[in-house]
Amino acid sequence: MKTPKIIAFDSPESARLVTVTGWVSSDGRFFGNDAQAEEIARYAGCTHQSCRKCGALTEKMYTHCPECRAKLDAERYAAKKREEWDCETPLYSERFDTYLFDVDAVTCLMDDNECSFDDLEPMICEPNKVRELDSDHWYDDLPENCDGELPDKLQAAVDAFNAAVKDVVLSWTPTNIVATWAGAPKTSETEAAPAQGGGEVTLPAFDAIADRQT
Ligand SMILES: [Zn+2]
Repeated sequence: MKTPKIIAFDSPESARLVTVTGWVSSDGRFFGNDAQAEEIARYAGCTHQSCRKCGALTEKMYTHCPECRAKLDAERYAAKKREEWDCETPLYSERFDTYLFDVDAVTCLMDDNECSFDDLEPMICEPNKVRELDSDHWYDDLPENCDGELPDKLQAAVDAFNAAVKDVVLSWTPTNIVATWAGAPKTSETEAAPAQGGGEVTLPAFDAIADRQT
């Protein structure tokens, strides 16, 4: 049987001093010298990086500068599908980050901010209904090879439950469809300055929204 080698704490074999090369970020962290080390160290050590579109320096957590983010947001919004609102389905205002459950809520938000319906960036919502029960709910307890067949009494209860909750809405989620509203009331603000920016109305209250991360 081979005797295990013994290395004493103070022997030259226990350790040796080496010089290593690697990237150190401006905050003193060491990232080694492998393929991505320089890139990772530079990102860790910088505060700003170049906007991918125009090259302007922007805070490093963003890939685009505030101006380009606002433009990209506007382009994305303009490209979305549009549908006429039925005045009943709840809406979600992207611009004001709030749900609107009826016509009164919509017109109040327009009045409070002296803006048009389109300025709300209103998205049509879809309902989140109660999920129906099926045999998967008891998957762990059912015998193997039963093909999901439930005992008659349980199946009858499941059928009754599913029928009872068929149209129960638990909550609403915005779709990617922008609501249009041909009958939307005009506000005094939009009537007074309809031609600004080629028909668009620019409102100071929206400046903060332009800072959304892209
Ligand atoms: Zn830019």
